[in-house]
Formats: sequence, C-alpha cells, structure tokens
Amino acid sequence: MGARPVAVLSFDAALHRFLAPARRGRPVAVEIDRARSAKDAIESLGVPHTEVGGLSIDGRAAGLEDLLRGGERLAISAQPEAVDPAPEAPRFAADVHLGKLARHLRLAGFDCLWSKDWDDDALVAAAVADKRVVLTRDIGILRRRAVTRGRFVRAVESEAQLAEVVRAFGLRAQLRPFSRCRECNVPLENVSKDDVEALLPEKVRALYTRFRRCPGCKRIYWEGTHFERLRAVLARASG
Ligand SMILES: [Zn+2]
Repeated sequence: MGARPVAVLSFDAALHRFLAPARRGRPVAVEIDRARSAKDAIESLGVPHTEVGGLSIDGRAAGLEDLLRGGERLAISAQPEAVDPAPEAPRFAADVHLGKLARHLRLAGFDCLWSKDWDDDALVAAAVADKRVVLTRDIGILRRRAVTRGRFVRAVESEAQLAEVVRAFGLRAQLRPFSRCRECNVPLENVSKDDVEALLPEKVRALYTRFRRCPGCKRIYWEGTHFERLRAVLARASG
C-alpha cells in the first residue's frame, strides 16, 4: 500500500486567516485522489480563489485551473495591496447581509448594488453582468468560478467595513460624498434651494445652502449629519 499522492501548499502569511489555526505558518499537504485543479486544492483548505494573487507550481508561475496529480509544491500569494490612488474605483455588489456597508459606500460616492431580495445566485449574476467586485462575508460565494473579483470583508461592524473597503481598494482619492443616493445607488442631481425649500425641515432650511436630489426616489440630500459622520469614519480609515 503506497501513501496517497499529495501536493504541498505554502500560503502567504496574509492568507493564513482563512486556514484552520493548526495549518497556519507551515506547508500543508493536500491529498490528490485524481487530477485536481489548483483552485480546488487551495479552496479545500478554506482559501477562496478571489483572495489568491498568484501561485507557482514547482517554482513556475501557474494558474488556478492548472491540474495537480500529486507530488507538486505550490506557493500561493495573496492579492497585493491596492495601489492608492486606484486609477478607477471599482463597482461593487454587496451580499444580502451587507446592506449597511452598501449604503455607506453609496454615501461615499461608490457604485454598490445591493438588494434585500437577492439570494446568492442573484448576487453573483449581478456582479458578473457588469464586472462588479463581490463583497461578502460568505466564503462559499467567493469559491464560485463565476466570481472573478471579490473580497471577503474582514470587519464585522459596518463603518469599519467601509474603512476596510476604502483601504483595500485604494479609494481615498476617489471619495465623492454627496453624489449618490444611499437608497437607490443612482447619481444625485443638483437642485436649487428655491426648488426644494418647501420640503425642508426648518432647521435644514436655516443651516444649508447646497442641495441635491435623487432622480429615482426624490429624496433630498444636504451636507448634514450623514456626511459629517462619514467624514469622521473615513478620517479614521486613512489614519
Ligand atoms: Zn433615491
């Protein structure tokens, strides 16, 4: 009886969070019963392919779909830190549990689709349809082949999640607060104070001069409480 063939996988420290604690910090052997893709072997240990920046097999650059037959040594690196400033802000699709994060992102000016009615299939379809980055805390979603860009959101609290996404994607220079509806995800339009005055609470009418309106839901926005709070969160994110 020969030992079953294995491939030996070494992960960057930045990927250790996805591994069981006992497997961190040293090479891990994965059984290869029959030809198995590198993606499958990596994900069998808990690391979703979207978090992999690159890999080598026996010292040569390789791809996630390359087949393993046993006896290989793999080195797996994490997604590199984003260049900040990123040349262009990505568009996002957030999973059903990340509604607060989606709203924060929109308030910061980023395009983030989200629906409370989405199941996993609908989320993935929306992301694939216009090349959006999937934001989720569900590793199962990130294992899907159709999901080519995604991030496992580490933070649990929504403001910390916003700070994390801004940092991870190098978005500090791309912030456009006061430009997108937090409910509809559509760009706001400028509107004169005269046009909306009758609709404003008295305090707002006295304090603010610049207003924008959502062409979808007709909500009126001014640089009030939401934006001060957002600025504070983002200041913490860049600190
Ligand atoms: Zn709206």
